[in-house]
Amino acid sequence: MSEDKKQEDTELEKRETEEGDKKDEYERVCFLCRRPESKCGSMINLPNNICICAECMQKSFDSMNNGTINYSDLMRNMPNISMVDLSSLQNQIPNRQRVKKKKPQEEVKPQFSIRDIPAPHKIKASLDEYVIGQEHAKKVISVAVYNHYKRVFAGQEDGVEIEKSNMLLIGPTGSGKTYLVQTLARLLDVPLAITDATSLTEAGYIGDDIESVVSKLLAVADNDVDKAAHGIIFIDEIDKIAKKKNTNQRDVSGEAVQQGMLKLLEGSDIEVPVGANSKNAMVPLTTVNTRNILFICGGAFPDLENIIKERLNKNSSVGFQADLKDKYDKDKNLLSKVTVEDLRNFGMIPEFLGRLPVICTLEGLTEDMLVKILQEPKNAILKQYKKLLALDEVKLDFDEGALRAIARLALEKDTGARALRAILEEFMLDIMYEIPKDDSIGQVVITKEYIEHTGGPRIMLRGQEPLRLEAN
Ligand code: ADP
Repeated sequence: MSEDKKQEDTELEKRETEEGDKKDEYERVCFLCRRPESKCGSMINLPNNICICAECMQKSFDSMNNGTINYSDLMRNMPNISMVDLSSLQNQIPNRQRVKKKKPQEEVKPQFSIRDIPAPHKIKASLDEYVIGQEHAKKVISVAVYNHYKRVFAGQEDGVEIEKSNMLLIGPTGSGKTYLVQTLARLLDVPLAITDATSLTEAGYIGDDIESVVSKLLAVADNDVDKAAHGIIFIDEIDKIAKKKNTNQRDVSGEAVQQGMLKLLEGSDIEVPVGANSKNAMVPLTTVNTRNILFICGGAFPDLENIIKERLNKNSSVGFQADLKDKYDKDKNLLSKVTVEDLRNFGMIPEFLGRLPVICTLEGLTEDMLVKILQEPKNAILKQYKKLLALDEVKLDFDEGALRAIARLALEKDTGARALRAILEEFMLDIMYEIPKDDSIGQVVITKEYIEHTGGPRIMLRGQEPLRLEAN
């Protein structure tokens, strides 16, 4: 072996001995069969840092007892052989010949669990990481959920029963109602079923009957009745089951559905099919009690603003302090002034509203909020695109102007934050298609001009000056 190679080897060995200091990363190996401790069980420690697995130890004893090897004869017949210092051998075994310990797999734990329900400010702080704005709604929801689960775990020994805090979320489409509830259920690690009230009809008519929402929840909870009984059911588009006005026909998808939901909201035993959507002779049934299920209803309630405005105008148009009639026309926060009376006028029946004691409103999203939604939440859309391009080792950036232009386009569509993804998909398609073609591209900056179709994105080659692509 040449001198150089020898030196290289000693250096490698030295480095490995240093690494060996981080002993925790390595596990012990049987000196005889070379199997690691995780495979052959606990080791027997011999002097001089030698360890041998129980099996090899047993085999050695057996062979000695059988007289296959007679060590004293062996030594006598070979006077030139002395005992080898086994410990020095063990020290010489480089790390690369040892087996690295398998790291125990980290369990993905939910942030909270309903059994140790966190204080409202902690729930809100976690919601803040995902949901932009909607401060009031986040606060109301955090408190309502906290109270709900406290009620679930509190006994009724003293005769005081805490009432259910089912919720009604009112806000324009795409303002984050569903997202808020989804985030909440994920944080608390409880099953969540989302249904659309438009598909519900009175039992016996075409459509899903009301109890199907519970069977959905059971399916989400992997048919675990206990888990389902502590879950959340979100019923979207609740405004669509308002009482139909001026109708002589039976209102099977409106008022009747509200009536049908009453006992569900309050808490009752519901028989639901296991593993299927509808009851029939072939499916086993199980009973789920809805007493501890949190019901959250959501809806955009179009025209509700007019009802509120009418009421406010009526209240303030009498007497000397009468207000101008158009005082509330430009009020952006009109929805937050909603009362149960307005909702009754909208077509919700009083018994139904009585079972949704927490009413909270969400604001319509502004340009600033949309810009934040693009980049700030933990799983923001921009972060997702950046990560996708980073996998190709390309840096993706967005000009402030580009972000604002995207937000303005989304505002025009009037579907809240839902429009953002569709708009970005459209602009990013070309980028995602073209960039992997050219390995020399190191950075892409999406510009305002690109979004407004007056220019192209700024492309920077690795280690070079920026260069502009023409818009096509
Ligand atoms: P809706 O109010 O109609 O139920 P969603 O909750 O379905 O609206 O919102 C649609 C999408 O828009 C969500 O998936 C979420 O990504 C995004 N979004 C809406 N509002 C917000 C918000 N306030 N913060 C962060 N993302 C939001």
